[in-house]
Amino acid sequence: MTERETQSITLELIDEAAMLQFGNRIAAAISWALDQTLENVPPEKIVEPALLIALQGDLGAGKTTLSRGLLIGLGHVGAVKSPTYTLVEPYELEMGQVCHFDFYRLQDPEELEYMGFRDYLVESRLCLVEWPERGAGFLPEADMLIEIVQLHEGRKLTLSGQSEQAKKILSQLNRETTGVNSAD
Ligand code: ADP
Ligand code: MG
Repeated sequence: MTERETQSITLELIDEAAMLQFGNRIAAAISWALDQTLENVPPEKIVEPALLIALQGDLGAGKTTLSRGLLIGLGHVGAVKSPTYTLVEPYELEMGQVCHFDFYRLQDPEELEYMGFRDYLVESRLCLVEWPERGAGFLPEADMLIEIVQLHEGRKLTLSGQSEQAKKILSQLNRETTGVNSAD
């Protein structure tokens, strides 16, 4: 059998519940990939910047909903507030710090400098960024891009992996979610 490296996944999710559930699946794939990478690495040797996931889509596309499913899948208990006004919501989870950003209200990408975005990137394990295009020029290239498009009913998601780590997550997700469109 030939080894096929998955670099992108496209799927349709019919409603909010399916979106939350898929967020859970992404969380499981991320945890799996991080465990593999960090196996046998002492904590003080972990210097990797956070895995950066960019969420693109219009207002109301479902970026916050997917982030909510992801955060809950990573073990967060309680509400997930949209970081539209605060720019960032940090979470302390079992895997370490996870930050959820929303750059919708960013006037200038340079504001990311003042808010210490680089520090968040170094100190977190995972950063989720809504409206990444508003941080253009300052935001480093994302490991994974998730594009969400509104359909007449539901949403179409395209996940593409740009780093090795992201490709690993996508292959895992692909294994776990084979038949995601039909089985649910
Ligand atoms: P965004 O953060 O992209 O602005 P939200 O996550 O706040 O969008 O979601 C906007 C609305 O879309 C919510 O009412 C949510 O229930 C709905 N929604 C989320 N995912 C789906 C989906 N897959 N199908 C239909 N509606 C969805
Ligand atoms: Mg949002």
